[in-house]
Amino acid sequence: MFKLPVCPHCKTVYRYGDVKREMRKKKCVCYHCKGQFRAVKKKILFLFLIIALITAIFDVLELYMMKGASFVGLMITNVTALTVGFFLIPFFVSFKKK
Ligand SMILES: [Zn+2]
Repeated sequence: MFKLPVCPHCKTVYRYGDVKREMRKKKCVCYHCKGQFRAVKKKILFLFLIIALITAIFDVLELYMMKGASFVGLMITNVTALTVGFFLIPFFVSFKKK
């Protein structure tokens, strides 16, 4: 399910750190074939929608299951989920030909 994006021209697989760097550029040039492409970030929105949904479910579970559930506990759950989300961003980027 989790796949890092590949160059649309030569199918070179980009590493995690490379994807993060390419994402910030408007115009990307493949380091392998010099082909031009752009990073499409549409799926990141989808990723955070899923995270929001899962977090909401966990919040509710935490409130019902744990007697000592506190605001701080919920915040920790939410921040953890968001952090995980940020680490997953490169997996939800795709590269498209210009
Ligand atoms: Zn390439």
